[in-house]
Amino acid sequence: MSRKIAGPEIERLVQLLSRLPGLGPRSARKAVLSLLKRRNDLLLPLSDALQQAVEKISECPVCGNLDTVSPCSVCSDPRRDQSLIVVVEEVGDLWALERANIVSARYHVLGGHLSPLDGIGPEQLNVANLLARAAASEVKEILLALNATVEGQSTAHYISDQLAATDVTVSRLAQGVPIGGELDYLDDGTLAAAFKARRKL
Ligand SMILES: [Zn+2]
Repeated sequence: MSRKIAGPEIERLVQLLSRLPGLGPRSARKAVLSLLKRRNDLLLPLSDALQQAVEKISECPVCGNLDTVSPCSVCSDPRRDQSLIVVVEEVGDLWALERANIVSARYHVLGGHLSPLDGIGPEQLNVANLLARAAASEVKEILLALNATVEGQSTAHYISDQLAATDVTVSRLAQGVPIGGELDYLDDGTLAAAFKARRKL
């Protein structure tokens, strides 16, 4: 039996934090120690921020984004292109596209990708809402900005099949050589995709 070295409150903190992606028990323990040592400038503000998050942040009923207003500030921004909906797997993907500031459209967050082995079918994802949104007259294009993984691409195929009978244009992100990428360092799949998607200069 391992000896107890800390009270249940500390153990609980370690356990909860180690459930976060990228944090194993060892790094969770380190994080907890830092929090406890820095009570005033870290622990208390973090506890307050978490409480605020619990009270104020919710999922947008339209697109699945997370925000303090509902519908979210992206959905309710009238300056955005209403004809384009960019479909992403997770809120983090939406944030990445917003940070890059390349598109001023509305989004739709699926909440993951299809994964039949894990019991994740279309009903577990935010797909029905997307099909309903695609039927609105102002929507002309659905851009499937899903991950370039097997699951991401099979999810994209499924959605484009579902939209085949509608008038909207379904598009996806280009795949190929990254900016600044050297051919010698690319994996075979990326190189093959770039070759297939070649364009006339
Ligand atoms: Zn929204």
